Amino acid sequence: MAEIALKSLAHSYLATPGSPEDYAIREMTHVWQQGGAYALLGPSGCGKSTLLNIISGLLEPSSGEVLFDGQVVNALSPEHRNIAQVFQFPVVYDTMTVYDNLAFPLRNVGTSEDKVHERVLEVADVLELTPQLKRKAKNLSADEKQKVSMGRGLVRDDVSAILFDEPLTVIDPQLKWKLRRKLKEIHQRFNITMVYVTHDQLEASTFADKIAVMYEGQVVQFGTPRELFERPAHTFVGYFIGSPGMNLFDVRARDGEIVAGDTIIPLGRGIYDAVAKASSNNVKLGVRPEFVEVHVAPVEGGIEVTVDDIQDLGTYSILSLHLGDIALKARIDEDSPTPHNNAFIRFPDDRIGLYVDEFRVEIDHE
Ligand code: ADP
Ligand code: MG
Repeated sequence: MAEIALKSLAHSYLATPGSPEDYAIREMTHVWQQGGAYALLGPSGCGKSTLLNIISGLLEPSSGEVLFDGQVVNALSPEHRNIAQVFQFPVVYDTMTVYDNLAFPLRNVGTSEDKVHERVLEVADVLELTPQLKRKAKNLSADEKQKVSMGRGLVRDDVSAILFDEPLTVIDPQLKWKLRRKLKEIHQRFNITMVYVTHDQLEASTFADKIAVMYEGQVVQFGTPRELFERPAHTFVGYFIGSPGMNLFDVRARDGEIVAGDTIIPLGRGIYDAVAKASSNNVKLGVRPEFVEVHVAPVEGGIEVTVDDIQDLGTYSILSLHLGDIALKARIDEDSPTPHNNAFIRFPDDRIGLYVDEFRVEIDHE
């Protein structure tokens, strides 16, 4: 078990990278603490697999260091890093039985057969593979093969960390849910550092205590699911987390008011001051649909908007609104009065995020 630190790490698949876009991993410094259950969440192509492969040693980074418990491991092979990695698609030995597949990583490091037997049975039990133990891996379904693959990752309890790269992709949805809970259970039982890669926010938040959100080769936020929801550090996190994502729209300061398009947005002094002194023209406000206050009649400080659509989702509805040219979403619960052609909305000051060049800027509310 180890703490994993990445120090000024960067990677490009090109021989002579120039611009930041040439990097699959842009320079990052990041620490995964020992024993943590982490998710690495981001869209396809953002660099998740590249990062995992650098940690496990399958890939050598262009620059920077990987440290396990403070020791630089850049020069160590994957075996010597003592890491288990589970991939998106099953890696099993077809001609071996399930039992021998699970036993393999243990026998490989000279574990006694008593201990092998004990661990194989334990892991098979957790993954519900006991009935298959004597079968040859080639006769298994895709689901079962992937479970064997996961079992091979989980069978050793002396590894520095276990890395999962979208391991449930080929698993059917019902089993997915169950396996995710099992992984969490296993984490709690063995206290091994686990990094779980996924592009699915639900999967990330059910498994992990802390989530690193990756975007264009950078970790743009590292926080609890709640922090990602309440205080997205980057517009991408606002947009990517939540369903629907955060409303984000361009604003500027004009004659003592904040305006979006031609509409004045009534907000407190602290937000105005921050907008006015922003050092860029790329200034956005962000507010989650859950925090948009919706009224059916005019209210003090309310902004009139048109209602384009109402999607009734049972206990709540999602409203599609227009404020000038700006499209917004708002979420109201079933007991709230439902607006028709127009509505009046307010943005609570303490639920608004200010983003300058896409990164969140703290506001002094006074
Ligand atoms: P993710 O796992 O988040 O989908 P990857 O780490 O696989 O992302 O890819 C990050 C970027 O690096 C992508 O632009 C991808 O096309 C590129 N890439 C990945 N593997 C290679 C490779 N072996 N050679 C060249 N480019 C690669
Ligand atoms: Mg990948």
